[in-house]
This record gives sequence, C-alpha cells and structure tokens, in this order.
Amino acid sequence: MKKFTYLIPKNLDEAISLQQSHGERAKYIAGGTDVLVKIKEGKLAPEYLISLKHIIGQDRPFLNQETGELFIGAFVTHGMIEKSPLVQAHYPILHDAVKNIGSVQIRNVATIGGNLVNAVPSADGAIPLITLDSKVNIYGTKGQRSMALLRFFLGPGQCDLEKGEILTEIVVPRLLERTGGAYIKHGRREAMELPMLGVGVLLSLEEDMQTCVKARICLGVAAPTPIRALQAEKYLVGKVVNEQNLTEAGKIAGEESKVRDSIRGVAWYRREMVGVLIKRMGIKALERASRNVEVGMRNAE
Ligand SMILES: Cc1cc2nc3c(=O)[nH]c(=O)nc-3n(C[C@H](O)[C@H](O)[C@H](O)COP(=O)(O)OP(=O)(O)OC[C@H]3O[C@@H](n4cnc5c(N)ncnc54)[C@H](O)[C@@H]3O)c2cc1C
Repeated sequence: MKKFTYLIPKNLDEAISLQQSHGERAKYIAGGTDVLVKIKEGKLAPEYLISLKHIIGQDRPFLNQETGELFIGAFVTHGMIEKSPLVQAHYPILHDAVKNIGSVQIRNVATIGGNLVNAVPSADGAIPLITLDSKVNIYGTKGQRSMALLRFFLGPGQCDLEKGEILTEIVVPRLLERTGGAYIKHGRREAMELPMLGVGVLLSLEEDMQTCVKARICLGVAAPTPIRALQAEKYLVGKVVNEQNLTEAGKIAGEESKVRDSIRGVAWYRREMVGVLIKRMGIKALERASRNVEVGMRNAE
C-alpha cells in the first residue's frame, strides 16, 4: 500500500484549507471503509488523507423539539444510528437499513456521510433517508448550502459536491402523525454483499388509519441513482392501504424503475421484485403507523 500523510484538522475551515492547498494529492477520509479499500486496491493513491472524523459534530442523532426535525451529523457512524433509542423508536425505516450495513466492525467506524458521498447505487443509507424527504447540509468556502438528498446524487459514484466541500449534516423533516415506514435490502444474503434492490416505503394515514394521505417510495439499484416511484406514490394517495392497492402500486413502480440485466439479477426478475417488496414494505409501514411508532416530535423523549 502506498504511504500517505494523515492530517487531522481541528475544524471544517481547516479541513477545507488543507484540501485546497494539497489539491488532487489529498482526499478526505471519515471512517475510511471505502477510501482505504480503494487505496489498497490501487484505485486511489492520495499523498494526504484529511481526517474528518475528529471534527466536532460527531454525535448521535438528535431531534429538534421545536421543529420536529431529526438531525444526523455526517460523521455519525452507522453503529451510532443503529443504537440510537430515538431512531429505534421513531425512525425504524432508518434502523432497518443501518442494522444490516456490513458487519459490526464496519458499522462501528463507517459514517453515514461517507455512505452518501460515496454515492454508489447500492448505498443503504440513501434510500430510507430519501424516503423520509431528507435534506443535506453542505459546507465549503462559499459558506453553507442545503439541498434535497434525492438531488444530491448525480450518477454512480458522483454526488453534487464541489471541490473541497464537506457534507456536514442530514436533516429529516418532521413526520406527519400516523406515519410508518420500512426498508429492505434484497439480495442473496442480507449483509456483506451488494444488494440486488433496495426498497423504502413511507406511508402517512388519515385518522381512519386506513386511507393514505402521503406516500413515499424510493428505490435503490433500480437506476443509476436512487429514484422515487412518483406514479406509484400518486396512485396510493387517497386510497385504502391494503394488499390489492399495494400490489397495484408495486406494478406501477416496477414499470417506473429502470432496472437492467446485471450480474446481480435479470431485469424482469428485479422488476417483479420491486412490486413484491413494495407490497411487503407497505404492509410493514401500515403496521408501524398503526402502532404509531413514527409520530415524530410529539412522542419523542
Ligand atoms: C466489508 C464492507 C462491507 C460493506 N457493506 C456495506 C453495506 O452493506 N451497505 C452499504 O451501503 N455500504 C457498505 N459498505 C461501504 C461503506 O462501508 C459505506 O459506504 C460507509 O458508510 C462509508 O463511510 P466511511 O465513513 O467509511 O467513508 P470513507 O471511506 O471515509 O469515505 C468515503 C468517500 O466519501 C468522502 N467523504 C467521507 N465523508 C465525507 C464528508 N462528510 N464530506 C465530504 N466527503 C466525505 C471520502 O473522501 C470518500 O470519497 C461496506 C464496506 C466494506 C469494506
């Protein structure tokens, strides 16, 4: 493995200034689970690694009691999210995703920010966070900017970060009452492999606990970037959430997906599975909404 110098900036400005002075010879590193693998495989050969994980902000997810927004620092590890009582109780869709990332060892060091910036179509963190309508905060020499997470992804391995910019935070907006969500990574095994599909479903219900007022469906590995199944979402709004309507929504989403034949599975099978998994996650989301586990701020500690 090629030798590199490890730099530990104290704050974001110092990290950006180091990145600017070393240019292409430097690379940010958070948990290092992607960067170090690429260096070992000879795909990257930076002279400097600029550590982001020592910068303040590496804390657990927290809820703003006034706005009901959930804040997750970019340097928070998957393990911290997995163990968060707040996430377990109120955002099980996110818990579904992080608990199956890699192994315990990976989850203890790998960060949610690194997962998003890496921007692979199979990134497990991305799908539930898009399903939850999350935004990302980004810091650079021009100050802070914010964008919808869905728009952050530009292509496989490509995200909307300018040179030197740092992803600092993920913000999940307040959840509507009677909301439930679920995520599944579908592959031959659940962990330690790239999934064939990732499916997230979030449903908010009327007071009758049956009629859908808002639906979010996000698909991973179904296109070069994560996509929302907009037509399927539209179909569900105003309808009773039951097996029949979820089956129809799944069919619509299958048509909307851009799945291709790949070594992980042929297109027709993956399209069918989009439908099957949407139905399965929709039923789980309905159950969770009924148990009112995702009512956000009001019931959070
Ligand atoms: C054995 C193994 C199993 C894995 N299993 C899974 C899995 O099941 N699901 C899954 O989704 N992923 C998996 N991964 C991939 C990886 O662990 C995750 O993508 C992880 O979250 C990356 O985070 P990190 O902190 O280690 O990123 P790093 O390797 O430190 O960085 C990744 C990239 O992001 C940049 N970067 C990091 N943080 C920031 C930031 N805040 N702002 C700007 N740039 C930044 C780095 O420069 C680099 O380009 C696995 C990896 C391994 C080695």
